Amino acid sequence: MFVVGLTGGIGSGKSTVADLFAAHGVPLVDTDLIAHRITAPHGIAMPQIAAEFGDSFVAADGSLDRARMRTLVFSDEGARKRLEGITHPLIRAETEREQREAQGPYVIVVVPLLVESGNWKTRVNRVLTVDCSVETQIARVMSRNGFSREQVLAIIARQATREARLAAADDIIDNDNAPLDALKAQVDAQHRVYLAQAAA
Ligand code: ADP
Repeated sequence: MFVVGLTGGIGSGKSTVADLFAAHGVPLVDTDLIAHRITAPHGIAMPQIAAEFGDSFVAADGSLDRARMRTLVFSDEGARKRLEGITHPLIRAETEREQREAQGPYVIVVVPLLVESGNWKTRVNRVLTVDCSVETQIARVMSRNGFSREQVLAIIARQATREARLAAADDIIDNDNAPLDALKAQVDAQHRVYLAQAAA
């Protein structure tokens, strides 16, 4: 299966763009959803997390105590690495399973941290970056999440830079000041390119 890795910073418009591809019948694999599912009640990462960090990180319903874990990994880089050592291989395996089972001309894997984490680039045929300016990201996330400017800036500071994401891209969707019909036109054109590449 021909695989497109879709990435972009917070608020760049990844979900919006992914939905426009899905409207063409392109199956989506969402690594954020997978990450959430494996740490949901009795998710497949939970036995290892309990063994590594202790039962105090498991909520009453069997899910990850996200608030507690967030506090820990925020201040403890080693703990973050240990957590990722558990979750990343499971996310990778689940992603590959969903890719294999996907039905369609090609598949889009939405990977918010494609540029930041590991060897994603080697596991997709094309990297598609959704691009916009930092100011646009800030405005969108403030309005979508009700965050302050400082909160959004703190999240952006932990992500790859706009330049790094553009450098990693094979293809780019420009979603800065793009009215929705212009965005859709870009997705339609890119979809036709991917159909041809997947068939070749
Ligand atoms: P991401 O998944 O990258 O965080 P989203 O697709 O959720 O980004 O977009 C962030 C917010 O900005 C959402 O509320 C979305 O509706 C809005 N948005 C995205 N693209 C546009 C656009 N071209 N014009 C207007 N609003 C947009």
